[in-house]
Amino acid sequence: REGVRSFFRRNLFVLFTVAAVALGVLLGFALRPHNLSLRAVKYFSFPGELLMRMLQMLVLPLIISSLVTGISSLDSKASGKMGVRAVVYYMVTTLIAVFIGIVMVMIIRPGKGSRDSLMAAGGNIEPVQAADAFLDLIRNMFPPNLVEACISVVFSTFLVSILSTSVSILPSKLPPLALPRWQETVVEMVPVSGSSNGVNALGMVVFSVCLGLVMGSMKQQGQALRDFFDSLNEAIMRLVAVIIWYAPVGILFLIAGKIVEMKDLVQMGGQLGMYTLTVILGLLIHGLVVLPLLYFLVTRKNPFSFIGGLLQALITALGTSSSSATLPITFRCLEENNRVDKRVTRFVLPVGATINMDGTALYEAVAAIFIAQVNNMDLNFGQILTISITATAASIGAAGIPQAGLVTMVIVLTSVGLPTDDITLIIAVDWFLDRLRTTTNVLGDSLGAGIVEHLSRSELLGQDAERGTSVLEE
Ligand code: ASP
Repeated sequence: REGVRSFFRRNLFVLFTVAAVALGVLLGFALRPHNLSLRAVKYFSFPGELLMRMLQMLVLPLIISSLVTGISSLDSKASGKMGVRAVVYYMVTTLIAVFIGIVMVMIIRPGKGSRDSLMAAGGNIEPVQAADAFLDLIRNMFPPNLVEACISVVFSTFLVSILSTSVSILPSKLPPLALPRWQETVVEMVPVSGSSNGVNALGMVVFSVCLGLVMGSMKQQGQALRDFFDSLNEAIMRLVAVIIWYAPVGILFLIAGKIVEMKDLVQMGGQLGMYTLTVILGLLIHGLVVLPLLYFLVTRKNPFSFIGGLLQALITALGTSSSSATLPITFRCLEENNRVDKRVTRFVLPVGATINMDGTALYEAVAAIFIAQVNNMDLNFGQILTISITATAASIGAAGIPQAGLVTMVIVLTSVGLPTDDITLIIAVDWFLDRLRTTTNVLGDSLGAGIVEHLSRSELLGQDAERGTSVLEE
């Protein structure tokens, strides 16, 4: 009976979440004709903003506690092997995603035709005042929360270093004393510091992996810390179980709010529409054909029942545009619904959410080649290879926050001498594509956890057996 009840409960959640998406879309379109003021939209989106903040609140302790407990609970040989498998999976799938993107954009050629129609769409974006960015800078010099600031400052350093690299590589392209348009927009979109979005996940991952490795080798002395992080992890997961009840409400308002405030869909026609379609097709092929096939080939299990267990995480990714905010839900779906071993999820998921972004890599490659097509620039084989490598790097460098991929795209564009200003041409549709690529990112991380678990089963069983005997001996 318990089994039936939990099955029902699980599906009830999925049902709620799917209904929330549908309701959000309906509500959004119903409210659009009323031309709500910016303030009204802000109030309206508030329940969604709360969900984002609740999830983000859990990300920091979750990444640290899960990685530390995950790694310290494995012996160094097992964690080494698992780490290599995970990294190989990340690299192979990211490169496949880039390849699919390149093939799609070369076949469909969304950028061919005149540049003018595209400029009309891009030109509608309100340029952000440099003064706003400046005020923000001063505002952020006085952080109301020091701990939060420490975390985001590192991220802002990363962002600033990308911006300054682009300045030094392309000095002739930049007008003096003015930020190029895309940089202004980026300054507005990506919180430079002082915001809870700016968690420097990569830094935390490195720290936690090192701490976990050291603790794993500490034997009895490390026990107190292991217990501490273990129960912290347990407590966070219980909080996730509470927040999950609120998730459908938050997702409803996140989606409705975005639909209310989005610009006219008319802009989606022509080249921009074809570009959007190219990215969507690429993501669909990667997420629904290639990754499931890989999962099946390795595990011989049905990939779609695995994906069924992930629905709530996938929808949360769609709603939040952030794979790190989705992380708590991804953990729950994998551990509760798909019964993936916790030693694997704790290890593989935080790293995956930080560096493995198939959807972002695919999108970066498509966007760069699209911009080349718009500029009538023929790319040779070497340049396409460069785009594949830099798109992979840019996806690793992108943080799991909304539209981070747009920021790191400058790496790809500068590597082949494309005008970085042209990022403005695709900004109009980026919020939408961001949701889809984030969903693909979360899907890639989750299937990766399933694959790594399957490949690591002998180590896991070996460790279980060892524990079993040591318990008997005790
Ligand atoms: N929003 C994406 C994510 O969180 C990153 C991106 O902008 O591509 O996974």
